[in-house]
Amino acid sequence: MLDRAATLARGPGLRAEGLRGGALWYDAFIPDTPRLLIEALHWACAHGARALNYVEARAPIITDGRIAGLHAVDTLTGQALRVRAPVVINAAGPWAPAFARGCASPVPGLYRPSLAWNVVLSCSAPGDCALAVRPPRPGGQTYFLVPWKGVLMVGTGHAPWLDTARPPRVPADLLERFLADVDAAVPDLGIRGVPVARVFAGLLPATDTGTARLSVREVIVDHGACGGPAGLFSVCGVKLTTARRVADKALERAFPGRRAQPYRAMPRPRRDDAGAGAVTSHPFDWMPPPGDNAWREALVDVVAREAVVHLDDLLLRRCDLGDNPARALALAEAASELFTWDRDRRLAEISALQRNVGPVVA
Ligand SMILES: Cc1cc2nc3c(=O)[nH]c(=O)nc-3n(C[C@H](O)[C@H](O)[C@H](O)COP(=O)(O)OP(=O)(O)OC[C@H]3O[C@@H](n4cnc5c(N)ncnc54)[C@H](O)[C@@H]3O)c2cc1C
Repeated sequence: MLDRAATLARGPGLRAEGLRGGALWYDAFIPDTPRLLIEALHWACAHGARALNYVEARAPIITDGRIAGLHAVDTLTGQALRVRAPVVINAAGPWAPAFARGCASPVPGLYRPSLAWNVVLSCSAPGDCALAVRPPRPGGQTYFLVPWKGVLMVGTGHAPWLDTARPPRVPADLLERFLADVDAAVPDLGIRGVPVARVFAGLLPATDTGTARLSVREVIVDHGACGGPAGLFSVCGVKLTTARRVADKALERAFPGRRAQPYRAMPRPRRDDAGAGAVTSHPFDWMPPPGDNAWREALVDVVAREAVVHLDDLLLRRCDLGDNPARALALAEAASELFTWDRDRRLAEISALQRNVGPVVA
């Protein structure tokens, strides 16, 4: 526990009026979630998995009421694929209900979407630790103000959302209300006047359709046990931090009696490169100094080894240069030269990047 003075020293900008003290605790933080996913894929592939990039599962292959595999399509070439498998686990997140419906096995409540977002503000954090703050009104939401790559990340905002077919975007009026509420929690920081540099928006499962009350428990469904094809399972988790445990539980349901190998006992995937640090260590406002090509050299190995098909794969999903949309666009042309594309393809890739970086709000 911290007394008043120590709390204000840790959290300059906190409302001092009525403040009696604070609590300090430690938690894990993942600064680069895209790299986490790629690392997980490196581990999976090093231990026998085959990852199929840009392949969409379309429909089940059913034999005698049991799943026997999937019809899929390579969305890059249009090639139809048949994948044989005695067990299929549908882990398609917000799109899991659509896939289950396509298997003629809809499950009420498998995933009810809600909108969630974190906002990056173009200012430095008030201190070096994250702050949990609340506006001074009954039932006010707790927000986290997190120092992130030299700027301030604020979140998490929540709102109802119904349409999983539409990319999640935060409407401008909602963003305005969110920032006003955060401002009420820490008025001395003056965040209302600070430009929004980026909004990270996505979907989270809610307890009820059309609400933003978050589910706190995963849903794991054995479709065979509720009238659907045997061998088909669906799993929808609620957090990255519990994803490993949820994956274990889903595997226990799908392969009863078979224990997964403890991952700590597995050898690390072989890495020839200098490690992910080379592509994830950039402060938000970093730009390469004129003539500095080290950032591009660090990406050569990524392009070669990490199933990079498009420019936006590279800049938005394999390294942190796309954290800052303005930087991603500024470096797009130079990054496109890492590929063997002709000029037309390079221009098309840069246009696609512009669309996919997108506006920060709706
Ligand atoms: C703003 C925000 C903040 C968050 N903060 C935190 C946090 O602080 N801590 C925490 O632990 N968690 C947090 N989360 C939650 C966390 O991000 C999610 O729980 C996690 O990403 C869910 O992973 P998933 O693999 O289940 O689903 P997803 O990440 O949604 O992945 C599903 C995948 O399935 C693919 N797919 C869909 N349909 C098909 C198909 N037919 N064929 C093939 N592939 C398909 C999709 O392309 C997608 O890649 C946050 C989420 C948001 C939106």
